[in-house]
Amino acid sequence: MSQPNGNPFQSWTRPKDIIIVGGSLGGLFTGVALKHHGYNTTILERNPTNLLDNQGAGIVAGGDTLTFFERYDRCKRPVAVPAPKRMYLDQSGKVVQEMPLKGTMTSWDLCYYLLRANYDHQESGYCDVPGPRDGDGRIDYRYGCTVKDFREEDGKIRVNYEKADGTKESVIGDMLVGADGPSSTVRKILCPEVSRKYAGYCVIRGTVPENEASEEAKKVFVERFTFFHAPGIQNLTYTIPGTDGAMEPGRRLLNFVWYTNFPEGEQDLEEVMTDVDGKRRRITIPPGMMRPAAWEMVKKRGRDRLPPQMSEMVEKTKQPFVQCITDVITPTNNFLGGKVVLIGDALAGFRPHTVASTSQAAFDVLMLVEYLETGDHAEFVRRTMEYARLVQQRGIQIGDRSQFEKLPLQEYVDDRTMMSTPRQELEFPEWTQVKI
Ligand SMILES: Cc1cc2nc3c(=O)[nH]c(=O)nc-3n(C[C@H](O)[C@H](O)[C@H](O)COP(=O)(O)OP(=O)(O)OC[C@H]3O[C@@H](n4cnc5c(N)ncnc54)[C@H](O)[C@@H]3O)c2cc1C
Repeated sequence: MSQPNGNPFQSWTRPKDIIIVGGSLGGLFTGVALKHHGYNTTILERNPTNLLDNQGAGIVAGGDTLTFFERYDRCKRPVAVPAPKRMYLDQSGKVVQEMPLKGTMTSWDLCYYLLRANYDHQESGYCDVPGPRDGDGRIDYRYGCTVKDFREEDGKIRVNYEKADGTKESVIGDMLVGADGPSSTVRKILCPEVSRKYAGYCVIRGTVPENEASEEAKKVFVERFTFFHAPGIQNLTYTIPGTDGAMEPGRRLLNFVWYTNFPEGEQDLEEVMTDVDGKRRRITIPPGMMRPAAWEMVKKRGRDRLPPQMSEMVEKTKQPFVQCITDVITPTNNFLGGKVVLIGDALAGFRPHTVASTSQAAFDVLMLVEYLETGDHAEFVRRTMEYARLVQQRGIQIGDRSQFEKLPLQEYVDDRTMMSTPRQELEFPEWTQVKI
């Protein structure tokens, strides 16, 4: 598909009807913000049921995630658990370094249900549902709709999708937002040469209820951001909201994120990425789908290599899941003169070490609102691409250092400190810059 490089600033007509592909956090950030600014939106989500499965994952709530909720969330309930200390353990479980931190930890499911309450008034145990307000745009959440392609038609964008029963439908709008994640279909249509590349390691993830943890584990994980580094291993564990977003001590969850090397082509990778049905999954083994034998292999790795408090989390988790770490970034965010944009993981899939994926999606949407309000497409492209390039590259750098080099602890501490730099203080080197 052609990619005109024109800046439509001169002839800007504010779009009214906006189609969003993807109904996870990025798509919902877009839907909520645009609705509140009076735009009409349609979200197309391929998931066959109304609600996405709980990803069972903690999220470090970066600055732009919190800014988004402060600005657009009408439920007004707390979003994050504080983590006032960062700590490092050695393999015996002893605290070897600690420092103050202004950490804020949330969960994928709390963010999701807050956004659905704000977007299409979805009831849940997480929050009260806010009523509609004058000036809100129309909303339309369609699930079981897999987008296949799109094309320009009379100055608009027509999006074709397939429903769960195989029927084909389409919808037309003034603009298309691709929020369809790291394997984005919208991106594949625009940039077919771009693909996700395996980085040589996986992340094993899970949660344990706070009140099921031993005293030794609680001491280092409750309201803490706690790390362990060893050759080929990084583990970080922190406290996140519990069932229905519960924030009370004792009702929260301890969330672990354990990076461990599985070289391409080795049998262990095949073992861990083959699910209970014997299917070799490419990127993710979702909660409940790990084979018992693979899980035993992973637990043994934990017992042999992790500090005892972290190995305890692995032993006690009931719904582990695995993701292969991959790299992907789009070369540009300038498509069809600004009528198509990519946001969040569709624009750039960061390594999770950056703890910035959700805040990237929030930031991209804050920038999208400015673009729609002002028509300054060039500024939108510049800011979203510079941020994506810088953070994606830093994720590769600190991820590779952590997994494939043996460094003094202080260097890992410094890498983490660098990744905690607020976005507003980042400097964008020449190679990140975009000229359009
Ligand atoms: C298990 C897990 C753990 C995570 N942990 C963290 C974390 O700790 N910290 C952090 O910052 N981020 C984390 N993330 C990432 C974070 O959730 C995402 O960065 C954030 O949700 C923004 O992603 P997104 O909406 O852009 O993409 P995604 O979350 O990938 O959502 C894309 C959506 O698009 C839909 N879709 C895809 N293709 C199509 C199509 N053709 N038609 C219609 N719909 C389509 C998918 O079904 C999906 O719902 C995690 C993600 C997962 C899955």
